Amino acid sequence: MSTFYNLVNGREAASITGRTFENRNPADRNEIVGLFQESGPEDARCAVAAASEAFPIWRDVPAPRRAEILYRAAEILVERKEELARDMTREMGKVLEETRGDVQEAIDMAYFMAGEGRRLYGQTTPSELPDKFCMTVRMPVGVCALITPWNFPMAIPSWKILPALVCGNTVVIKPSSDAPLSCWHFAKILNEAGLPAGVLNVVTGGAEAGEALLKDPAVRLVSFTGSTAVGRLVAQACAPAFKRSNLEMGGKNVVIILDDANLELALDGCVWGGFGTTGQRCTAASRVVVHENIYRQFLDQFVERARALRVGNGLDPSVQIGPIINEKQLERVEEYVRIGNAEGARLACGGHRMSGGPLSSGWFYAPTVFADVAGRMRVAQEEIFGPVVSVIPCRSLDQAIEIGNGVTYGLSSSIYTRDINAAFRAMREMYTGIFYVNAPTIGAEVHLPFGGTKDTGNGHRESGLAALDLFSEWKSVYVDYSNRLQRAQID
Ligand code: NAD
Repeated sequence: MSTFYNLVNGREAASITGRTFENRNPADRNEIVGLFQESGPEDARCAVAAASEAFPIWRDVPAPRRAEILYRAAEILVERKEELARDMTREMGKVLEETRGDVQEAIDMAYFMAGEGRRLYGQTTPSELPDKFCMTVRMPVGVCALITPWNFPMAIPSWKILPALVCGNTVVIKPSSDAPLSCWHFAKILNEAGLPAGVLNVVTGGAEAGEALLKDPAVRLVSFTGSTAVGRLVAQACAPAFKRSNLEMGGKNVVIILDDANLELALDGCVWGGFGTTGQRCTAASRVVVHENIYRQFLDQFVERARALRVGNGLDPSVQIGPIINEKQLERVEEYVRIGNAEGARLACGGHRMSGGPLSSGWFYAPTVFADVAGRMRVAQEEIFGPVVSVIPCRSLDQAIEIGNGVTYGLSSSIYTRDINAAFRAMREMYTGIFYVNAPTIGAEVHLPFGGTKDTGNGHRESGLAALDLFSEWKSVYVDYSNRLQRAQID
């Protein structure tokens, strides 16, 4: 069995706690993907110390040179894409096609941020005074602690690590214990591409290691992706020292289907958006609001398609839906199905675990559709994070928008219609960070900002150029070459 170590100061290090944990394949829990370090506060402290020491060195490397390392990492990722995708499927279960996409997202982000190393543009602007020059420059923030979830185990670390590095910060990342291997691979590749020791450090483990990172006074920025409950703890831990914190949290996303929609297209989108990644995406289309004129027709075909999905081990190319990440999450899905039944939603398909044959050794759940759901029901309000979609009838666009916005989350929303006016009205009215027309709620690209409103985020955006604002501070610079005292707003 392989053992994987923390990466601290360019070296592999066993945890000071002396403890390890198992990373098991959720599609076959007899398979141990690897043993990882169960880090504690002292491990976190050592990693932050290494990042602090490396910071003045890395900050002074010209940004285009920093970017060249990212570019080299992208090239290595391209070469090793298939092997990395297979390891990702083994550790967290999504089908190979999707894990290839996850690695591709890291590749795209590496090329994109490598390009930004030659820009990192600031502004020059006239002064209100003669013989005076004004400009803005970006400066790095310092040591960044990054805490990531398991569902995009390479893409999400890449969204954080790459802009942090290109801006001149150093990093300690703590990936989820459910899928630490992909982040570990990614960090090894960046080191292989030429990062100086200590610039990027990885400590694996759970909340104990995460909490220690949040509290360390040398950490100046925390970037967190995960559940809203843990995100709230992160915000609280960062507040006393005014650490910059960026929180990407849960979602309860909606697809609106009007009665003029291309129904086949909408069905394709709802199946992919609702059941892709076994519904375990922050952007999953877990609510579908359908106009009453086509409700019955949509529902019958949606249920038929959900029933036909092939569930199994994601390494099998014929499989469309992989397992749920772990037993606790499977129990959570079961609990929500009980809740949905109790509150009067109609279980149209699924609603049970899947076992028998090879499925018996994994955490499998049947794709599930609740019909005739009301917007206020808990299954339509709370993030389930599993293969459960609630279908809600509506009478009009206005009502669909009201239902769509009527949750505490605000990540992604979408509309299927041929009416351009309706599409633009929904685009304006939906208070979500991402909006799609004639596409499901998933499908973000790395060069656009990513994030959400309300309980999904705290006002920042990752990805795109917005990520540079997250990982740098603006400095306004005034150069007075008049050789006399000039007083702004007075002279
Ligand atoms: P989680 O909140 O359980 O864990 C996220 C990370 O936080 C893990 O690394 C975990 O070890 C760490 N952690 C847990 N307790 C901590 C503590 N007290 N202090 C510091 N760190 C702690 O989330 P998860 O189950 O890994 O992922 C699923 C959640 O992530 C869902 O809610 C999903 O919507 C969300 N998510 C959001 C986005 C987004 O961009 N908005 C993307 C993917 C996933």
